[in-house]
Amino acid sequence: MRVYNTLGGRKEELRTLNPHKVNMYVCGPTVYNFIHLGNARPLVVFDSLRRYLEYKGYDVTYIQNFTDVDDKIIRKAQEENDDPLRLAERYIGEYFIDADRLNIKRASVHPQVSQHIPDIIDAVGGLIDKGHAYEVDGDVYFRVRSFPEYGKLSGRAMDEMLAGARVEVDERKDDPADFALWKAAKPGEPYWDSPWGQGRPGWHIECSVMSTRYLGDSIDIHGGGSDLIFPHHENEIAQAEALTGQPFSRYWMHNGFITVNKEKMSKSLGNFFLLRDILTKFPADVVRFYLIATHYRSPLDFDDGKLEEARKALGRLKNTLLLADEFLRGNNPDTTDLPEENRRSFDNITEQFAEALDDDFNTALAIAHLFELSRLINSHIASGDPGNSIHQAIVGQGADILRRLGDVLGLFGGATVFGNVESEDDDISSLEVVLESFLAIRQQARQDKDYARADEIRNFLSGQGIRIEDTSEGARCRYEAPPDLTALNAKLEEMQGGR
Ligand SMILES: [Zn+2]
Repeated sequence: MRVYNTLGGRKEELRTLNPHKVNMYVCGPTVYNFIHLGNARPLVVFDSLRRYLEYKGYDVTYIQNFTDVDDKIIRKAQEENDDPLRLAERYIGEYFIDADRLNIKRASVHPQVSQHIPDIIDAVGGLIDKGHAYEVDGDVYFRVRSFPEYGKLSGRAMDEMLAGARVEVDERKDDPADFALWKAAKPGEPYWDSPWGQGRPGWHIECSVMSTRYLGDSIDIHGGGSDLIFPHHENEIAQAEALTGQPFSRYWMHNGFITVNKEKMSKSLGNFFLLRDILTKFPADVVRFYLIATHYRSPLDFDDGKLEEARKALGRLKNTLLLADEFLRGNNPDTTDLPEENRRSFDNITEQFAEALDDDFNTALAIAHLFELSRLINSHIASGDPGNSIHQAIVGQGADILRRLGDVLGLFGGATVFGNVESEDDDISSLEVVLESFLAIRQQARQDKDYARADEIRNFLSGQGIRIEDTSEGARCRYEAPPDLTALNAKLEEMQGGR
């Protein structure tokens, strides 16, 4: 597999430290709000990369942190008259609700800054001992000039950075480019005891420390959004390599921005959309498909029309699975009945899918091969005889491969609604969202052992021509004719109001 390495600026063969393992660290969110769509892109991109590496047989250790000590959290907590760590804890809970809906696998570990203060203090002390950092009035700064390779990731020269970066002139710093490793406590802020007095870590030190703590001095892949290249990742490299003397990460992978009218989506520009709000209009599997159907390094423009296109495209793949199930009518075909010629064409598509992903994780091309497979299965369904065991083997095997390859990109795991998904009707998105909500209420009712409530949902939906099917991947809805959205919404409101 070849990946584009930001460090060096070219595609390189992925050679991991251990040929069977991948150690990967991805910068996670600062937890002071719900995540927005721009935050969701790296989560989906790197979760899909992890799934693909596992599909290729690597044993992947995946670390994604939560920044739970930060200026923005402290400010928000002050506004809400809350405790900063409690506020962060609340948004970590909300993060997992969103991530689960997007079918994002849990990381091997989700470390939090507040739980690694002693590790951070050790690292800051080590950097002072080695002459890479200095203390002034309870603050500790990294001495950028002490690390001659500073700028190697972002490709910026030191003087250019000083001219271009918004570095505040601070008389106490040896050099304006020096950045904080440790900040002295200000009144009303959370703090920890340290050799430099009471204070808290700066932002950058957490990631290099937690990466080293869980993955060792050198790792294979460090990922994140391209807005993190400078200064965050540049600073991580300086801190880690100055401390350990080892190369920090072999490959640095960065995803492109999400743009709105060609402008970067960000909290500071105020043009961001919370994932949660988008999920009231579009099902989570559609949002995931939208985020992964474009190459991860390309900018991704956002508007409702793009999500509507994604809904129709994903709908075509889901429809093939639905039609295949109907064709097989519960039969489990014998794959030894699969003719050699069909086996070859399925193998070809499987190989092309992998070749696309092996070329810098080209998910756009890989998904094009899924559509090719889907069309092939559809043609066999259209011309085949459901009673013929050879035709069953072709359709069954094709659908299995489509499901398996789709799962490599996490496409079908969250898929809960199967029906007339190719309809041009604008109400279909709302319908899928409503049905997802019914399934979520039913799931909760079953967890609470409130079987009367769970049955009420099944019976109501059945009366509307919608069948609930429980599968090993969770519950799904199926319908033949488009159901009556007004009736569904009224019932949903009634059931939600009843809690
Ligand atoms: Zn980070």
